[in-house]
Amino acid sequence: MSAEADYLLLRPEHKYPRCFATDEEIAMAKRMREFTDKEILPRRHDLEGGWHRDEELAHKTLYELYFKCHQLGLTISNLPEEYGGLGLSPVVRNMVNEELSRGDIGLATLVGKIHWIVSFMYNYVNVRKDLLEEFAPKITHTPPYIACVCISEPAGGANIEDPALELRTLNTVIARREGDYWVLNGHKIWPGPAGDPKYFDKWREKWPNIFAGHLGYWVVVTEDPARGTEAAGMVYVPYDAEGMTFSEPFKKCGFVWTDENVEIWYKDVKVPAKYRIDTKPGDGAKIIYGYVVGLGRLAGAARLTGLATAALEIALEFTKNRFIAGKAVRERSYFASILAEMYRMIDLSRQYYLSVTWQVMHPEIYGEHWSIQMLAKYSAARSFAGDTAMFVTNKAMELMGSYGYVYEMHVEKYYRDFKIVQLWLGGAQRDRMEIAQGLYGPFKWAGYEEWFMKEFAAKKDPIERTINKTMAKAAGSEKEAEKIRKELEKDLEYDVDQAKKDIWG
Ligand SMILES: Cc1cc2nc3c(=O)[nH]c(=O)nc-3n(C[C@H](O)[C@H](O)[C@H](O)COP(=O)(O)OP(=O)(O)OC[C@H]3O[C@@H](n4cnc5c(N)ncnc54)[C@H](O)[C@@H]3O)c2cc1C
Repeated sequence: MSAEADYLLLRPEHKYPRCFATDEEIAMAKRMREFTDKEILPRRHDLEGGWHRDEELAHKTLYELYFKCHQLGLTISNLPEEYGGLGLSPVVRNMVNEELSRGDIGLATLVGKIHWIVSFMYNYVNVRKDLLEEFAPKITHTPPYIACVCISEPAGGANIEDPALELRTLNTVIARREGDYWVLNGHKIWPGPAGDPKYFDKWREKWPNIFAGHLGYWVVVTEDPARGTEAAGMVYVPYDAEGMTFSEPFKKCGFVWTDENVEIWYKDVKVPAKYRIDTKPGDGAKIIYGYVVGLGRLAGAARLTGLATAALEIALEFTKNRFIAGKAVRERSYFASILAEMYRMIDLSRQYYLSVTWQVMHPEIYGEHWSIQMLAKYSAARSFAGDTAMFVTNKAMELMGSYGYVYEMHVEKYYRDFKIVQLWLGGAQRDRMEIAQGLYGPFKWAGYEEWFMKEFAAKKDPIERTINKTMAKAAGSEKEAEKIRKELEKDLEYDVDQAKKDIWG
């Protein structure tokens, strides 16, 4: 694909209709598209370190392009103006995701991580002014920082994201309150970009003008799995906090260097109490469902749409210049109908994710961001865009024959890259289940009550003992601890109706 590939229906002014975007926002999307054409498309191979996956070339390219995105303001688009950001709408947040993903979905994800962490501290659950004031100078800093969110655990990523399991399978990173600190113990898998602090320090020291280093980890935790949504939350951990150890990065199908995914072990990792992002029982779950999973999936929908658009543009150009018996193949009905189908799915993905994004801006009409109905819509957007990206990259390759399969044509990279965006944050199957829950739920999956009784109720005594010990310490007096213990006991006597009420209101 060249930057000259220019089709009226794929231009920002046609892709982003005025019912969802203002003229000013469309002008921004045009600017992002030009940036992608000029800066990212020519460097797609370098972002993977070329054919030989050169680590240094990949990082240099990634940090240079990330720096340029930051200079354009793309990283700070949703940071409120009072903290030095641009305070732009969720529509712009997703335009950034779509337009950058047309170039490279890994780079778009790195930029999107900053939007993501801002959304945990500035949302309809709470506004952590203190933390925004603390982090804003780093988020707006030039050169820019990168950041990471840790959710998945060895027992499964997808289960954590299942609202029907009430965050009770979140059981490896346990946060314990000790005076003015939270202490984390446990194990996370897959977060990225993550790794030994020395690794990121090395790149920062090499290119200090374009890369400021790693900002740290926003970690999904629980105080006690038995207490489900009441005890789940999020804790910020600096990138070099004592007590964290890291595996080597996984070697993957796509996102080769643009996301470095590792396992992290936490052993008595101690952070100041203010770094617990949620401040009230139950708020952590709202942040996790609404902003970690919910808006994370919606951003994924925008990215998958941008990636699919890139594959369509390549196929359009190739089939324009490939002739069979004197006729460009795209003017033969077989090819034309497939190209039309690709466009149809892409535009439906886009119009749907834009519609859901617009609904996010109107919670007074469509409900709270963490409601099961909104979760169904984010999931429908991501899963449909995932199907679209899968169809489009696959068909592009088929229409181009072996040329579609070769490195030089780039389709193979989009084909490898899209898959994880369809898989992560619970994946395409979870998306479908959330849609069902939003449509006619909430309901419990078969076997839930039995599992709950076996896993938690039967272990009541040891749990109580641990709670008592911790509470006595934290509460300061036996009497206060006893009061809290009684409330916890009530939670442990699992009542499906009450739990539904607690979770969904
Ligand atoms: C490049 C990359 C980047 C990533 N980035 C991050 C990150 O930044 N932070 C992070 O925390 N994680 C990250 N992940 C991890 C990713 O989000 C998880 O791998 C994903 O959510 C799936 O979890 P899992 O691998 O544990 O699979 P599982 O949870 O074992 O799921 C496997 C399959 O089973 C299905 N399944 C699981 N449970 C159920 C159920 N209850 N009912 C029906 N079906 C079910 C799933 O839908 C899926 O199809 C990343 C992974 C990669 C490869």
